[in-house]
Amino acid sequence: MSELSSAISELTEAQTAAVNWVDGPLFVLAGPGSGKTRVLTTRVAKLLAKSPEKSFRVMALTFTNKAADEMATRIEAFVPEQQHRAKVGTFHSFCMQMLQQHGSHIGINPDFAIYSLQSDRVDLLRDAIRESGLNSDDDRFLSAIDKLKARLIQPEGSAKRFRDSASGERIEQVFRAYEAALSRANALDFGSLIAQAYRLISTYPGVAVHYRRTYAYWMFDEFQDTTDGQYRLIKALAGDSFRNIVAVADDDQIIYQWNGASFQQIQRFRADFQPTEIQLPTNYRCPPSIVAAANQLVVNNTQRTMSKKPLEAGKTTLLYPDGQHIRLTRYSSEEEETIGVATEISKIETSQLGEVSVLARTRALLERMLKGLADADVPAAIAQRRDNFRSPQFLWLSSALRLAARPLDRRALDALTGAFNRWFDTAILSDDVASAAEISSRSLLSEWAASVSSVGGERVEALASIAMRLSSHPSTFRDAITNSLEQFLQESAEDSSDLEEDRAAWTALVRSIGQSIGRDAQLEQFLQELALRSKEPPVVPNTVTLMTIHSAKGKEFDHVYVIGLAEDVLPSFQSVKAGEQSPEMEEERRNCFVAITRARERLCLSYADRYRGWAKKPSRFLQEMGLDLPHTPVS
Ligand code: ATP
Ligand code: MG
Repeated sequence: MSELSSAISELTEAQTAAVNWVDGPLFVLAGPGSGKTRVLTTRVAKLLAKSPEKSFRVMALTFTNKAADEMATRIEAFVPEQQHRAKVGTFHSFCMQMLQQHGSHIGINPDFAIYSLQSDRVDLLRDAIRESGLNSDDDRFLSAIDKLKARLIQPEGSAKRFRDSASGERIEQVFRAYEAALSRANALDFGSLIAQAYRLISTYPGVAVHYRRTYAYWMFDEFQDTTDGQYRLIKALAGDSFRNIVAVADDDQIIYQWNGASFQQIQRFRADFQPTEIQLPTNYRCPPSIVAAANQLVVNNTQRTMSKKPLEAGKTTLLYPDGQHIRLTRYSSEEEETIGVATEISKIETSQLGEVSVLARTRALLERMLKGLADADVPAAIAQRRDNFRSPQFLWLSSALRLAARPLDRRALDALTGAFNRWFDTAILSDDVASAAEISSRSLLSEWAASVSSVGGERVEALASIAMRLSSHPSTFRDAITNSLEQFLQESAEDSSDLEEDRAAWTALVRSIGQSIGRDAQLEQFLQELALRSKEPPVVPNTVTLMTIHSAKGKEFDHVYVIGLAEDVLPSFQSVKAGEQSPEMEEERRNCFVAITRARERLCLSYADRYRGWAKKPSRFLQEMGLDLPHTPVS
């Protein structure tokens, strides 16, 4: 039996029905660990396996590139010969591809840069404000601009979206200047990827027709966290006729409301597409006691689809005796909690550490935990969205690549010089830069490469040779870049621990990019893909993963530690203030629900009597889960 047939034979009846679904709209509304992601992956593979002679493609979009890579790897294992017919990615990567191929209709040059670094965007905004004579240093407007873009709102007329007309006017002016500056720089930010793709298909419906013909089946994972803009994009792309859409979602896991997700998108999908609905009632991830606790917790929410049944527990092979899958520990202080949890984790075998995760509502708690684990000699890393180009070395490397692709990219030139000067503490390049405006920066790059190698060290030489190779052969790019970067990264392995972290991030990044761009991809495409992925956390083997609950969605771990289960922490201070019946409190409850349902074997919950010196009560969610609260803290 092939791998695919044996995977299909393991499915339940309800899962099989979803996998075998062929034409028309389908909505799979089901709880955590019920196999939604598994169903999508299997369905993609099955559609392709069944039609080896056909040329149609299948599209599956999910929330992160990491999740998409995992799906792609499984699909490749199922149907190695057909994998090229599956487009598995994120909304952003899908839109990026659409704009590379068709963006020229609306004046977008296919080799656009993607501004993923917050610092690039802030610089651009400041320049834009200055150049348009707005006489303001208000880069606070960036988040307002992002919110407008997430709802596909254009600068023109955006002022009237604000109650206070004076500040509305100001935001509109800055928004307009920012968009114009992006366009002059031939650059798009993340918001523009969606907004411009939407503009493209609204202006040129032929592009949507092309996508409907190319991709015969569309699938969306984590549909509950789709934003308004993404939903409207799907709708415009589907037009009046296309209906082969399968969306999977869990309304109890909407945790991105602050980012524009809402129950509304689920309702709109139902109303617009009239999908058949299938439920997957059984959880195969968590032991029965965790499933029971999750059910008891989430019934306290009122904003949910009443049609959805409580989760049933389907997992049969259990590692621990009944009642030992959940542990609740009370500590006297936040410090004690950190030390206590770190000590517990230090008892787990090193080879298992990749299966351990610590989840918290806030970053601050994770940072404290990271220190605690370091003190206990446990390898750990915070999986956070961050700029992967923080260190001067890597800033230098990425700017060198950008410059090789776009010889006149002034911003990359500045970054290259800035990073270089910080790194080597030398003013060697400043004269060059002064005259750089006229010289082609590509030739400058090779000159630099030559002078850099005289400054010192093998590492510099390795970098220089990459720059050199790129400046002379920018087009034989993919293999050259992947090999030489990896080599460079390996050679710099003995550097400081900070660099070590960056190195791991880069190696993982370069490898995943190498897998997802085609063999004959150009440097521009590499850079676009790089920008798209540059903010996702790297995966480091045999390391405890520390995550905010928001970044844990869709994931699972053998051992899950949820810390900070106290009032004003989880639930957050704001939600406690907003009150028991508030939407904020319900979102916090969903956060807790997502957190506890990540555990495959064991769930360790904890809270302290004091956080930041303030006495706190245990989280209301603990009682709702039906757990007995300890009478005294452990000592
Ligand atoms: P989430 O809402 O958290 O994203 P999900 O519904 O996408 O969860 P999956 O991640 O697809 O759930 O599946 C959860 C776990 O259960 C996975 O480890 C998966 O392999 C396993 N699983 C799913 N279906 C079955 C089944 N029929 N038999 C055994 N294991 C299963
Ligand atoms: Mg999933």
